[in-house]
Amino acid sequence: MPTPNIKLPNMDHYWVPFTANRQFKAMPRLFKAAKGNYFTTMDDRQILDGTAGLWCVPAGHGREEIAAAVGNQLRTLDYAPAFQTSHPLAFEAAERVAQYMPAGLDRIFFTNSGSESVETALKIALAYHRVCGNPLRNKLIGRERGYHGVNFGGIAVGGIAGNRKAFGNALAGVDHIRHPLDIVNNAFTKGVPEDGGIALANEFEQRIMTLHDPATIASLIVEPMQGSAGVIVPPKNYLKRLREICTKHGILLIFDEVITGFGRLGTRFGADYFDVIPDIITCAKGLTNGVVPMGAVAVKREIYDAFMENSAANAIELPHGYTYSAIPIACAAAIATLDIFANEKLEDRGASLSGRLESAAHSLKGLPMVKDIRNIGLVAGIEFEAIAGKPGAMSFATYLKCYEMGVHVRYTGDIIAVSPPLTIEPHEIDRIFSTIADAIKFVVAAGDAGLDH
Ligand code: PMP
Repeated sequence: MPTPNIKLPNMDHYWVPFTANRQFKAMPRLFKAAKGNYFTTMDDRQILDGTAGLWCVPAGHGREEIAAAVGNQLRTLDYAPAFQTSHPLAFEAAERVAQYMPAGLDRIFFTNSGSESVETALKIALAYHRVCGNPLRNKLIGRERGYHGVNFGGIAVGGIAGNRKAFGNALAGVDHIRHPLDIVNNAFTKGVPEDGGIALANEFEQRIMTLHDPATIASLIVEPMQGSAGVIVPPKNYLKRLREICTKHGILLIFDEVITGFGRLGTRFGADYFDVIPDIITCAKGLTNGVVPMGAVAVKREIYDAFMENSAANAIELPHGYTYSAIPIACAAAIATLDIFANEKLEDRGASLSGRLESAAHSLKGLPMVKDIRNIGLVAGIEFEAIAGKPGAMSFATYLKCYEMGVHVRYTGDIIAVSPPLTIEPHEIDRIFSTIADAIKFVVAAGDAGLDH
């Protein structure tokens, strides 16, 4: 925790996102610098980044290549309107992203965040069916515990209760299917669980047949691995079966790859890992190594072509976009990041370290309160027993203790999630999990899980 002689900023004005502000302002955790796999706090402590920022810094912090590209770009062309004009780097960035995407998903729409990518993808799905003459295909399906950002479409298809209930109903015409942890107990499975995938996917078909007419469904959106809900790894063949059902019923399948994109699973995308090609992929975060806000939506060529062919001549085919879509510095950052991925083969590095992370994570089995451990690629989740009336108390106390011991992890619900930069060293992986183990023991011994937050 900060030492008393550190001069803290005025805490009155900034409303900190996704944070318990009263707790935070009483015990601020402030970084002043970052390099490689470490943050530096205001009181000059080094904190190992066990979460790649917010899952968004796969290439590690302080990359000179990106800083140079952004700085040069800012001095050359700072801005060009994304409205009847553009600039060459936007096309180059789109080409590079298209080349990085699974085959066929090569038409790219740029946004500024994961949330905007989700809204864009949902709007493209709805508009696509309209330009194809099917305006009645207007329902959106998501999953329980799905996280698709914070905008209205995203919280509507999303299924994290806490993110929805504060705001009432978001959008009508939305339904949710169950998530993998609901159907079969795969606790402590290493990697992808074997059981339950087909049955769970078949529930989707049953639901749209009995509660809806499948011809009214525009799209199904899923995260290949549910990240924010606490690292939920889909069972074998689940996504493949969802693909078959969507194809059979003419439903667009959207993979929200905001977390799973850019090497997190040891492949470029979750689509590559699970060998399933969706119709639309949303991404953000790792696209610019987290340093300039940018998201992208990749669609199959047929989807783009439907807009070009069926819209009236000279009409704006998709009346949608953002002032900062494809701003030059974001394009420069994306190209520099993709160069780093290509040069350093970061996806392969992630894949080669995933075994180390798996054994380190599962070494926590047997510690008090640990109910489940899940992992895939360079991600792991440690789930605690729920404490009645105190959701998240154990994970929050563990998170705080880890921070105090110099390791940054993420807490979400009753789960601690770990997703280090792909540049992490094996000994640093071990340190992350041994710190979590020490923190759990400390919290349990001290009874800190009773902490309010
Ligand atoms: N979709 C998924 C799957 C995410 O994990 C996130 C962010 N964690 C988002 C969307 C939203 O992204 P952003 O915070 O950039 O809006």
